[in-house]
Parts: sequence; C-alpha cells; structure tokens
Amino acid sequence: MPVHNAAIADAFDEIADLLELTNANPFRVRAYRRAAQTVRGQSRELWEDVEAGRDLKRLPGIGEDLAGKIAEIVSTRRCALLEELRSRVAPGQVELLRLPGLGPKRVRQLRLRHRVQTPAQLRAALAAGRRIGVPGAATATGARLVAALEHRGVPVRMLRNDAAPIATALERHLRAVPDVATVVVAGSYRRGRETVGDLDVLVSSEEPAAAIDAFCRYDEVRDVVARGRTRAAVVLLNGLAVDLRVVPAAGFGAALHYFTGNKAHNIRMRNLARRAGLKLNEYGLFRGRRRVAGRTEEEVFAAVGLPWIAPELREDRGEIDAARAGRLPALVRREDLRGDLHVHTEWSDGSASIEAMARAARAAGLSYIGIADHSRYLGATHGLDADALRRQSRAIDAVSVRGITVLKGIEVDILEDGSLALADEVLAGLDYVIGAAHGGFGLDEQRQTRRLLRALDHPHLTILAHPRGRLINERPPMTFDLAAVLARARERRTWVELNCQPSRLDLPDVDLALARASGVPVAVGSDAHGVGGFALLEPGLLQARRGGLEARDVVNTLPLGRLRAALARGR
Ligand SMILES: [Zn+2]
Ligand SMILES: [Zn+2]
Repeated sequence: MPVHNAAIADAFDEIADLLELTNANPFRVRAYRRAAQTVRGQSRELWEDVEAGRDLKRLPGIGEDLAGKIAEIVSTRRCALLEELRSRVAPGQVELLRLPGLGPKRVRQLRLRHRVQTPAQLRAALAAGRRIGVPGAATATGARLVAALEHRGVPVRMLRNDAAPIATALERHLRAVPDVATVVVAGSYRRGRETVGDLDVLVSSEEPAAAIDAFCRYDEVRDVVARGRTRAAVVLLNGLAVDLRVVPAAGFGAALHYFTGNKAHNIRMRNLARRAGLKLNEYGLFRGRRRVAGRTEEEVFAAVGLPWIAPELREDRGEIDAARAGRLPALVRREDLRGDLHVHTEWSDGSASIEAMARAARAAGLSYIGIADHSRYLGATHGLDADALRRQSRAIDAVSVRGITVLKGIEVDILEDGSLALADEVLAGLDYVIGAAHGGFGLDEQRQTRRLLRALDHPHLTILAHPRGRLINERPPMTFDLAAVLARARERRTWVELNCQPSRLDLPDVDLALARASGVPVAVGSDAHGVGGFALLEPGLLQARRGGLEARDVVNTLPLGRLRAALARGR
C-alpha cells in the first residue's frame, strides 16, 4: 500500500505540534507546518515521485532535510524523528493535544501555569470550575471539549450522515468491477442507525478475486488489515474501518440478512428456523445439507413463515412477533411527505431568502413549508422580536412561488421556567408555533419535566421541537418524564418533532415509538438553514422508520387543507 499525501502531512503536523510542546525553535515548527500544507496541496501523490526518483526539492518549502523525511515515510512507513519526539513528550500531553480546541500553545500553558498535564487533570479542573484559560462548556468549542473528555477511551462513532457519501462512493467503485452483480452496505448503516462504528460491505459475485483486488486498491484505503479469498478488511484515510465479503448469488440473501443484523434479531431468527427443523446461517437456510433458501432476504423470511421485515426494524424490539401477527407497520416513506414546518431563512440564522427556500422546497417535491425562524432570546444575535416578526409576515405575504404555500410560524424559546420567549398576542397571530429549548439542558428530571409540561400548557404551542435537546457525540439528551410529556401533548393536541439535523435526530427512535403508542402525532422537520437543507428529510426519516412510524403518524404527510384544519383544532 502506498503512503498517501494526507498521511505524510499528518506526520509533519504532529511533528510541529510536538516540537512546539517542547519549546523548540519557532522557525523549525513553522517549517514543518508549511511542509504539511505543501504536501496536502499536491494534486499528485508524492510516493509516485519518490518511486520515480523525482526531485522533491522543487516543491515550495521542501529542502534537503524535509525531502529526506518524505522519502523515509514513503519507503519505511515510519518517521524516526516523530517517534523520538513522541517518546520524549509525556503521554498525557500528547492526549491533551488531540482534544478539540487544544493546540500546543494551550497545552503548554496548562502545564506551566496550571499544572494540568493529563486529560484526567483537565477534566477535574473543569468540573471544579477552575479558570484555566480553556473555552467553557457554554461555547460550542467548550462543549465539544467536555464531550471529548467524557468519551475518552470510547471511540466516537461516526454520524451515519457523514459515512453516507463514503459508502456511496465505495458502492459505485465496487459496482464497476466486472462480474459484480450487487453491492450493499449492510450492518447498522443499512438499519439506518444514527451512527456507524464501521462499514460492512457485501458483494455478490462468482469471481471474488476481482472484487477483493478492487477493494484493496481503492483510492481512499489507508491500510489493508486483512486480505483473504472472499473477504478483506481495510481502514480508510479518515480512519473508518470497512469489511468486505464476497458471496455467490445463491447465498446472497442469507448473507445480507446475517450481516445486516442486529445480533439479537439474528439469534431470534435462527431459533425460529431451528424450531422448523432448519438451520440458518450466513450461507443460507438448510434442511440437512440441502440449501432450501438464501438467494434473497424475502426467501429467507418466507422459509420461516414471515413476511420481509424492513432493516430499520431489525433490533429485536418486537418486530418478529409483529411480523408473525401480520402487524408490521407500513413505514413512512420520503414520498409521503407533503410539507416541512421547520424552515429557517436569513431573517434569523438561515442563509437564504423566504422565496429561495420556497423554490428549493418545491424542487424537493413539497407543496407547503412553514417559516419558523428563531425568536430573540438571551444570547441569540439573530432572533426576531415582535416588530421584526410583523415585518416578516408582510414579506411572506409578498412571496409567490407557484405550487408552494408558505405558512407563518416561529421557533420560540422555551425558557427555563417553561414560559415562551414571546408575548401571547404575538404568537396568536401566527399559523403555528414551534417551541424549543436551546439552553437549560442540565435541569434535573423533575424541573425539566415541569418546564416542558408548562410549555405544553401554553395555548399557542403547536410543536415541541427537538425535545431531547441532544447533540450526538457532543451533548447528552435531557432527562425528563417522557411518558408524562407525551400524555400532556396528547391532551393539549400538541405534536412532537422529529428534527432531521444529522447530529440531532430528535426525538430518537425509541422515543418516537413511545410517541406513536401514546397517540401523539409527529412533525418531521428538516430544520433547514439553507436551500440544501431539505435533503436531510430523507436520511432523517430513517429515524422515523426505526421508530415504526407510518404515514398517518406524521402530520406533514397531510395535504395542506387537512393540515390547516388540524392546526386550527389545536389552537
Ligand atoms: Zn432549534
Ligand atoms: Zn430550528
């Protein structure tokens, strides 16, 4: 495997960091930083230059010494200087350096001024509220830092949405291989989980060698970890691990089911098969030694007496019993959505005009949108006050985009005491009101529950947005009595939101299932802040499907007339 430019640049950056930590000559530090930039900016792979014996000193900022380092890294995959520096710096320092928001300067100051030398010490100092010159948890950087300290040692799972373009490109690459019939990314990715730990790729082909070879030679591969006749494992440049298995068409369905999981679902399916005198494994469904099914997933399910179960439901949360009883939900699909009630514009923190958002919504196949810009509240720089809201209302009246109706809403803050941040008479003039907490996430369960119940009691509240307030990998969900909140929402004819922002996906799947069981309708909102934002509806809906929602559980599948009637009933 060749060493890619990114790996060389990373090594130079780390050398610069470590030199800075050890108070080395600033010119030397800068030389490595510049070299990292130069290497990263090359369109051609430098390992090819090294192999061809071309002179690297033609590159800006690369002298004799650095050219030698590049050659060393390319040919040995190691760098003696980097290893020496790593051994000289205390491990705690290196760990601190890898935390978000902490550069070498801050790490040095932490050690010299505050005697903070390890992540554990930093965590303790922050918990004690010591002033140590790092951003506080109230800022975005600070929140990320605190989250990273809490997750330390536990590898953070990648957002599915970040993995999606990687998965798509890899699928495309493998589909182009001769004799490859089908390519599917299975595992938690296929089940639509909000994060993925790695990717499990399944290929159907009668010629495994070609697929394995193409996989291991893929551009984005950093390391080939294992390579066999029908399977291989690699790590991509961005650190994501990918496993590939190549299976013949006759067993593809069984393998697809097996590698889609999850484990608990698979165990239940195997037990069902055993009771029918069959044996189910990744190669097929067997009676004795004879394969009786395995070409498609439908075949496998049918052989144990079940209809096909959508991957999003395969979590052993009752889906097998539901399938047997003929009670599987008809899961909501993207084409069921008629509108989107959570849309921002340049009137608050969005990037596009009302008209541009309306056109983008039409292009996304919607027939109505609701503008729900932020209210002005403590610390929000772009929020609307009563006066701005009146002006926005006139601006909406002036917009006319064929085929799209624009409704008037607001995303108003739910304050810590449960009141809303705008006066009742202002809210009364709108088509609907979205309420959301953007602070006070840490209230204890009792106070948080009281806060949300009071907000739901507000006569004008229509939708409780991103109710858990979580940011995946960054901020934990708020704790409150969800059953009590849902019961009140049903009583007050208020809806709860599924927010489609990839790091929110809020309410989460199990909470959505409870909302459905409690008879509380769900509004699926893109929370679009720009014209591209409606693209998040489709991946966001995976969460709705994981929660078992059908089209009739989702309010914005209603045509405009019926939606308006529902809005009127709720006020
Ligand atoms: Zn919000
Ligand atoms: Zn919003």
